[in-house]
Amino acid sequence: MNAVVLEENLQKLSALIDRFSKSPTLHFINGEHLAATDEGTFANFSPIDDSIIGEVAAGTMEDVEKACKAAENAFDDWAAMPGKQRRDLLHAIADAIEASAEQIALVESYDTGQALRFMAKAAIRGAENFRFFADLAPTARDGLSLPAPQHMNYSSRQPIGPVGIITPWNTPFMLSTWKIAPALAAGCTVVHKPAEWSPCTAALLVEIMHEAGLPAGVANTVHGLGEIAGKALTENEAIKAIAFVGESSTGSAIMKQGADTLKRVHFELGGKNPVIVFDDADLHRALDAVVFMIYSLNGERCTSSSRLLIQSTIAEEFVARLKDRVAALKVGHPLDPDTEVGPLIHSKHREKVSSYFEIAEKEGATIAIGGKCADLDGRGCFVEPTLFTNVTSTMRIAQEEIFGPVLSVIEFEDEADAIAIANGVRYGLAAYAWTGDSGRSIRLARDLEVGMVWINSENNRHLPSPFGGMKASGIGRDGGDYSFDFYMETKNVCIATNEHKIPTLARL
Ligand code: NAD
Repeated sequence: MNAVVLEENLQKLSALIDRFSKSPTLHFINGEHLAATDEGTFANFSPIDDSIIGEVAAGTMEDVEKACKAAENAFDDWAAMPGKQRRDLLHAIADAIEASAEQIALVESYDTGQALRFMAKAAIRGAENFRFFADLAPTARDGLSLPAPQHMNYSSRQPIGPVGIITPWNTPFMLSTWKIAPALAAGCTVVHKPAEWSPCTAALLVEIMHEAGLPAGVANTVHGLGEIAGKALTENEAIKAIAFVGESSTGSAIMKQGADTLKRVHFELGGKNPVIVFDDADLHRALDAVVFMIYSLNGERCTSSSRLLIQSTIAEEFVARLKDRVAALKVGHPLDPDTEVGPLIHSKHREKVSSYFEIAEKEGATIAIGGKCADLDGRGCFVEPTLFTNVTSTMRIAQEEIFGPVLSVIEFEDEADAIAIANGVRYGLAAYAWTGDSGRSIRLARDLEVGMVWINSENNRHLPSPFGGMKASGIGRDGGDYSFDFYMETKNVCIATNEHKIPTLARL
């Protein structure tokens, strides 16, 4: 524990959170802070000590309607703005995020329980998302030249219209920028509905965007509950597409809600991602990656590798080393720079995660490390970093997304066995594999039913590359030009270059 820096961070935080505790966090619609139409609010808690951070406007259908109207009214001018001008504005937002990165990270850690060591990087990544898509704004409309013998076809893209963006509570700031930046770069206007368990940095983000020069109505934020404000957004006529990040069951609800207005949807959903370690791998690096990819970000990460598939020839030794590492993880106050695992987002989520400790025992798995709730001075939504061994692939702990610092270890015999276990879940977001055999790497990459494969690598993000999942893990891809395919309509134009034959009907 680094008590000195923790104390400094707590002091810096106290200056930042006054605004959240002294008056309710309001919606931001058409460039203005607005209370809910019925003045309703809900309480937002810090998972560190269960204290109330403050009240937050509880969005109603009327609030959502106002925000969607604002986005609709702002659309034509924003879509018509030259790409270079949009680029400059988005860079100004990135500059402003960088200037406030420390404050954003402190507030995010306090609101979500995520360790500051990771949130500091996440805030910077938020700025990078804006910069990356800013640079693509001038060419977002570009299409293809598709000549035919007697015709010239060319395509171009135009922004689809006002879009709804609905985000979850894990790394909420970074994820919001990951969706909002490409939408704005494409020329869409936005209504953002952040998760009710982590509203603070969404409130900061929309203010930063406007202070950096974004015109009123281009980005609007409505706080509130998913079943009310989120649902109203997915049903609103003015909204042409919904970009959603969250649970698979919510994605399914959103698809139904959006059916009457024929919403285009983009879903980034849950995962139960395998990390497969073969006996020919660099086991030292593999162990680092296995630990990092489930216990960083409290395991509250869609791409976390929550199933370790370990070849039986090396299982005993590898798991022994793994146990030592899991037992040594530093659980603590998220604002302590030494902390590696903080509290889970909410007491309800802790209930969900800890319910799997009992399920694991009932199913006959072994709780090798952890398996209990924890606390900090008697408070907070902590659980012990947990390792389940003797797991078989049909157990619930090997099938269901737990979304906490909990790893299930499953042994396999050979490559075919590993692939069958890896693919034997309803999810298909990401997979990680560690092997020294390049041919096997290629076979795994081909046969794993996931949207993203990392070979001999932890989760290394490259913004132009496609990000997204198969099966119950999602629909569509983000990243680079893939994002524009979602936020834009492609139009084809066909012009005759000569007098081609036109069939004549009803010749007189
Ligand atoms: P969630 O589905 O409960 O909530 C996500 C958002 O949806 C929240 O803003 C919520 O208010 C809203 N919502 C809930 N019901 C709604 C409805 N009926 N209509 C419209 N909106 C509604 O998810 P969560 O618990 O906040 O987040 C955790 C989940 O997110 C995990 O499953 C995780 O894997 C997933 N996730 C996926 C990715 C990815 O890229 N695939 C990234 C991060 C998180």
